Amino acid sequence: MFLVVVIMNKSKSVAHELKTPLAVIKTQIDVLNQQDTITLEDYQSTLKVIERTVGKMSDLLDTLLETNQDKSNLNEILNIEEIIQDVIEDLDVIAKRKNIKLSYSINQNPISYGNSVLMYRCLYNLVENAIKYNQTGGKVEIQCEACPLNYSIRILDNGIGIPNEKIDKIFEPYYRCEKSNKDGIGLGLAMVKSIVTLHKGHIIVESEMNQGSQFILNFPQLKKESIVL
Ligand code: ADP
Repeated sequence: MFLVVVIMNKSKSVAHELKTPLAVIKTQIDVLNQQDTITLEDYQSTLKVIERTVGKMSDLLDTLLETNQDKSNLNEILNIEEIIQDVIEDLDVIAKRKNIKLSYSINQNPISYGNSVLMYRCLYNLVENAIKYNQTGGKVEIQCEACPLNYSIRILDNGIGIPNEKIDKIFEPYYRCEKSNKDGIGLGLAMVKSIVTLHKGHIIVESEMNQGSQFILNFPQLKKESIVL
């Protein structure tokens, strides 16, 4: 909680978190503008994504304001499969631009409590990185596996990889690997870590240079009374 508050108190990071949904809206409009003929269905599907993205920005702002007041609701029932589907739907347009295939698999939807806006943001940041630090024609896969007491979410990519000695550092605020010449300010993973901790989970990272990375999130299947607000 502390880190989310610290991060969100910095206006730079709030601006960054809003930059991505704005980029999604811009990309949607660009894609429409580049088409020679635009059908009613094209307009409708573009409007749908824009409407959802604006909704997400508004939810995010609400959550950040609530989080800053230390009143964030961690007692919602999370529909993990729906959150994964939303992330894929919202990032699909960016993935398509790099010809990256996004897919997910799930053995069973876990029963879990937490904050769906924050959990969406956590998975969004990880999948966005998996696309950003990948090559054209790459693959990104989300695998969710639930056991009776806990569940895991893996985000796998076959991108550029992370040097072993840097794996611990990438979760530090503003840390970026030297080779990072992509957009970003180094806060996405710091936010991921604080959201995972807030949900009583932990993260493991496995990576091989030029082969790819996997971020494995492990969470308990929480009971309502186990969350201390
Ligand atoms: P940003 O993407 O804004 O730089 P992040 O906190 O999300 O910040 O990530 C920190 C750094 O970790 C990135 O700059 C990048 O070097 C590295 N990184 C994160 N995810 C991946 C990934 N899936 N593959 C390779 N490198 C990654």
